[in-house]
Amino acid sequence: RAKDAGRNSYCFYNAVMGERNYEDLALEHGLRKALEGGLLHLAWQPKIDVVSRRWVGMEALLRWHDPDLGEVSPLQFIPLAEKLGLIETLGDWVLDQVCQQLGQWIKRGYRPMPVSVNVSARQLVDADFAACIFRRLKACGVGSELLELELTESCLILEQEDGEYQLLDQLHAGGVTLSIDDFGTGYSSLSYLRKLPLSVIKIDASFVRELPGNREDGQLVKAIIGMATALGLEVVAEGVETRAQATLLQGLGCHVCQGYWLARPASTEQISQWLRESGESGLWPHFPEDWEP
Ligand code: C2E
Ligand code: MG
Ligand code: MG
Ligand code: MG
Repeated sequence: RAKDAGRNSYCFYNAVMGERNYEDLALEHGLRKALEGGLLHLAWQPKIDVVSRRWVGMEALLRWHDPDLGEVSPLQFIPLAEKLGLIETLGDWVLDQVCQQLGQWIKRGYRPMPVSVNVSARQLVDADFAACIFRRLKACGVGSELLELELTESCLILEQEDGEYQLLDQLHAGGVTLSIDDFGTGYSSLSYLRKLPLSVIKIDASFVRELPGNREDGQLVKAIIGMATALGLEVVAEGVETRAQATLLQGLGCHVCQGYWLARPASTEQISQWLRESGESGLWPHFPEDWEP
């Protein structure tokens, strides 16, 4: 049955049972090699305001292309890295790459564009996390307002609650934007919304997928946007694949969309090209011609 539900749940099943099969071992070996051997890279997915038509930011997404295993999904190797204790190293690598790339874009004179980075719960256990981030940003000549960290609800239910809240306060005070990813899919209570210095709620793709047909999902999305707005938070919709979804979302007050409808995650070269096309105007250059918000 686990196998029917797909590859990821199959791995999860094995992990839970404490079994080690060949596939897991190959992945583990591969991941360690990928880290050392430079087989990881980043893809970047634009976030676009469909009303103002401005390109407002992008998300860095980790990619692993393995010569033997092929393209391995982060949905598979991130949980593995967490389990193996490799996520801190992976996370550091991602933060280094993002800061360096931002620094390069700035040096080349591109309009500065905020980049968001996904953060695993384990990374927030390190009391030096904030200091390391500020050090990196400084070394690369990047202002902290250009970095956003995407936390999931699972990040917010650690045992070291107090230390973690301090850490998030430090990041926020230093100018780093904090957002909550996959909103509505975790198990934590909503109380973190008033305890933590969050600025952005990302509506999970699972609530967007069946729009506009699914009325219940429409009501949920409407309620999330209403709550976020009342709390002074920005909203971003994930997984926007169609014009109809974008139309509905902007009508409900969610203007920033991320998804295949506007742009898939793209290579550094492709993003650099888009940044040139976008230029000083900051407008997204590839709206469908007849898009009228
Ligand atoms: P996420 O942070 O929620 O990222 C959004 C995921 O949705 C990405 O999958 C993206 O490629 C995909 N996506 C974007 N637009 C669409 C769309 O219109 N339709 C569909 N079906 N999918 C869309 P990806 O890159 O496979 O990453 C999966 C997850 O892996 C991420 O979910 C994030 O939780 C995790 N991840 C990726 N990179 C990192 C990283 O550097 N660190 C950590 N800790 N986690 C990461
Ligand atoms: Mg994310
Ligand atoms: Mg997400
Ligand atoms: Mg998601």
